[in-house]
Amino acid sequence: MPKLELSFPNGVKTTVQSDLFINNKFVPALDGKTFATVNPSTGKEIGQVAEASAKDIDVAVKAARDAFENVWGEKVPGAERGRLLLKLADLVEANLDVLASIESLDNGKAFSIAKGFDVAAVAANIRYYGGWADKNQGKTIETNDKKFTYTRHEPIGVCGQIIPWNFPLLMFAWKIGPALATGNTVVLKTAEQTPLSAIKMCELIVEAGFPPGVVNVVSGFGAVAGAAISNHMDIDKVAFTGSTLVGRNIMKAAASTNLKKVTLELGGKSPNVIFKDADLDQAVKWAAFGIMFNHGQTCCAGSRVYVEEDVYDQFMDKMTALCKSLSVGDPFAQNTFQGPQVSQLQYDRIMEYIESGKKEANLHLGGVRKGSEGYFIEPTIFTDADHNSKIAREEIFGPVVVVSKFKDEKELLRIANDTMYGLAAAVFSRDISRAIETAHKLKAGTVWVNCYNQLDPQVPFGGYKASGIGRELGEYALANYTNVKAVHCNLSTPAPL
Ligand code: NAD
Repeated sequence: MPKLELSFPNGVKTTVQSDLFINNKFVPALDGKTFATVNPSTGKEIGQVAEASAKDIDVAVKAARDAFENVWGEKVPGAERGRLLLKLADLVEANLDVLASIESLDNGKAFSIAKGFDVAAVAANIRYYGGWADKNQGKTIETNDKKFTYTRHEPIGVCGQIIPWNFPLLMFAWKIGPALATGNTVVLKTAEQTPLSAIKMCELIVEAGFPPGVVNVVSGFGAVAGAAISNHMDIDKVAFTGSTLVGRNIMKAAASTNLKKVTLELGGKSPNVIFKDADLDQAVKWAAFGIMFNHGQTCCAGSRVYVEEDVYDQFMDKMTALCKSLSVGDPFAQNTFQGPQVSQLQYDRIMEYIESGKKEANLHLGGVRKGSEGYFIEPTIFTDADHNSKIAREEIFGPVVVVSKFKDEKELLRIANDTMYGLAAAVFSRDISRAIETAHKLKAGTVWVNCYNQLDPQVPFGGYKASGIGRELGEYALANYTNVKAVHCNLSTPAPL
């Protein structure tokens, strides 16, 4: 298929292959199918990309299996895998503007944020796991017998990775980093809304020197290509980020095929608790950032804010003023904070929540479309919502926050934890003992104290309850991608018979 020729308002020009990436080659889908990827700022097609079917997944899995057995896995020392990852991180940095421009165009996020946060974090994550590649060591274990017993951390094999559209390139990095560092090969499916930046990354994967078949990237739809990955008998592990509904389907598929290992990073409805002794100006800024960052399309978004009643009015005045001041619009404009939602479907889903929310709660701010084209939604605040209302319980995945007041701390904790989710939470207080005690009582995989949305490559991230299984990032993510083998070497113990 011809390359897409892209030129951006910031002067950047580039080309993007629109094919599947298998065995280090760009190839069309076997049945020649393509689908449109759309610019969410305009609703217009950017171009066509290859649409993988189950047959293409078979080819990609075979490439990944051959690479795992012959040119990767334990065939390549950790230090060499690390060197390639470090080279890739350098290449990402050398191509920062190009990658960030593609991300802004295809996803709608502000170019300045795509460059300063997303793509910068891509390089940092890949570099971090490059550092781990020769340090993923087992242990020697003392036992009662005369034995030399030790563990090895072996790669699992071929990993299927299915990623969402909210951080297309960053999720790509979160997935391939620990998988490649530990010696696995991957077949990664991008989200159908945002295939382009990952395809561009594949050029850098070749340039970095990864052998063919180590990384295979396919674009396509969940029900076809995604399902083919989660049902595949020769995929040893599947890692997924996305909706809780699809996460369930992936577990079912794994359970009914080869019991491939499953890790899931799913949704949330994260509580953000503001005590009256907090630095209110800072708390307001972090709370607004906590929900409005990435247009609310963040699995850990602080979508339920609870403010102690003594400072509630003050908080609301400041939060309202701040949300009104956030610049919503063209991702390539210099001061833009919030771009469009990713797709018409997501826009419609959010507007439906806003409409039904109006019947359950008080629409305090926003709730309307911005402009006449694209999928822009004004920052939206609801108040006076019952804890059991839909707007206060369900993940909206848009720039919509429900702010409530609380009086009784015990009741607050009950409500904050009364959710099927447990991805993240935050607490704001100048009293560090109170803040930490509250952090320990909140049932979530991440709790931020006096900040929000802080994600570091070194620190694990993942969910309690229905928010997921396993941990990404940090040393913890290595466990998702390794089998632990125990080796018992008898030194002098006679056989028991
Ligand atoms: P989704 O879960 O349908 O899509 C995420 C990924 O899963 C995509 O790559 C998709 O192609 C794939 N997929 C879809 N169906 C599949 C299947 N049956 N088998 C295998 N893979 C499949 O998410 P969505 O429809 O794009 O968004 C719906 C909601 O999901 C959002 O409103 C939001 O609440 C949530 N979401 C969460 C995250 C997150 O980071 N946790 C990311 C995106 C969306």
